[in-house]
Amino acid sequence: MSKQTSSIVQESLNALYDDESFLPDLQDGIREKAFTSLVSILSTPNHVNKSFLRVTLENDKVVRIPAFRVQHNNILGPYKGGIRFHESVNEEEVINLSSLMTLKNALHHVPFGGGKGGVAINPREFETKELNLICKKYVQYFSEILGPDKDIPAPDVGTSEREMDWMMGEYKSIRPGSRYRGSFTGKSVVNGGSLGRREATGRGVYYTFRYLLHNFVSEQRKWLEERENIFAKTALDHSGKDLTMAVQGFGNVGSIAAIEAYRCNYLNNKVVAVSDRNVTLYNSDGLDIPALIKVSESNNGDLPTSEEQLANAEVKATIKDRDDILSLDTDVLILAALEDQVHADNVHDVKARIIVEGANSPVTAEADQILSDNGTIIVPDILANAGGVIVSYYEWIQGRDTQFYTEEEVYTKQFAKMKETFDTILPQFFGDPHPLRQNCYIYAVSKLSTVLYRQGKLY
Ligand code: GLU
Repeated sequence: MSKQTSSIVQESLNALYDDESFLPDLQDGIREKAFTSLVSILSTPNHVNKSFLRVTLENDKVVRIPAFRVQHNNILGPYKGGIRFHESVNEEEVINLSSLMTLKNALHHVPFGGGKGGVAINPREFETKELNLICKKYVQYFSEILGPDKDIPAPDVGTSEREMDWMMGEYKSIRPGSRYRGSFTGKSVVNGGSLGRREATGRGVYYTFRYLLHNFVSEQRKWLEERENIFAKTALDHSGKDLTMAVQGFGNVGSIAAIEAYRCNYLNNKVVAVSDRNVTLYNSDGLDIPALIKVSESNNGDLPTSEEQLANAEVKATIKDRDDILSLDTDVLILAALEDQVHADNVHDVKARIIVEGANSPVTAEADQILSDNGTIIVPDILANAGGVIVSYYEWIQGRDTQFYTEEEVYTKQFAKMKETFDTILPQFFGDPHPLRQNCYIYAVSKLSTVLYRQGKLY
């Protein structure tokens, strides 16, 4: 668990320790012991599984690739979380991401624990056949610990429905006759996946943001104004002006969040900038997001990087450096790339008054403190980007029941669930000084602690 996650878990437990209405049966001596157990249970993973996958490449060269599956916690149900393919994958990172899954599922009442997988490769450097082999090897190596009632992976950075289909196919070969459909989520629809799963994370990110604004402009606005909140004074005092948005990352999360914003246009929100691993594109009148999605799909997932490519795609935009996205003068910044993007060295350049975390852990602990102190509202990862795992849960149920929901049914269920969580967290936020992240952690940690206590595990 990274310093940030473990210290917020610790702070949440401290806050709960002082709250006498929390686990009131646990008094004095027992209380202290129980809380010490809670800290260790919630800050350390149950299992860290790792291997070096031995893969023969197309040129006959043999490589050994580091691969991980961390099972953080299964208090609430089978371990659950994505598998990431990225060259920066390492043990500490996967542990931290797995702990976020435990908290995310607890926060949204998804009956799963937390897990995460990773393979340390840049998938762009491998042939399709090689990637297929890597997926198969991963499942072969970890098949004992995976399964529909044990540990259920899903896509993450660098993986998609293609990889999940391959992995489920391999799992089915190894465990014929099992309820293999529930062994992986985020599969293609034809292979037992759910309608709406691919878009679920990005849509949920935009939905969370829109719902936050809705709360600001309706009943809660007065609260902000009374406290002279800078955001109420600036970003929402639009009277017809645009609410400008920048989106970092144009993959499955960023591009979907951007197109939702483009289509919905809530309070005149306008996506004026997007970025990916190469470039930032800016247009103060708003970017043509559908055209950009189309061109990136035909360009191996990359945004246009030259005037010529922009002209061919008929997109009007200024080309800027990749990291310029973080310091643009926009009202809102959606972080949908990788972790640790906003850190101590660049946090003072950030001008947005609302940050929405589409990626996991995109703001470091230090930067988070600085931003919160200056009144920036950060909608944390475990609140904003849970749409993926929520619809994974519906996919898992559909696979088990072999009954499938319409796309409309999936959205309705997803948004109802996200709204329920938001409605629990937001009144606390308006009533007390804790940042949203801390409220989410306190809520998740309290749920996990109560379940452990009820199951007699804290004596
Ligand atoms: N990788 C996604 C996440 O970080 C989805 C996980 C899942 O569906 O299990 O939330």
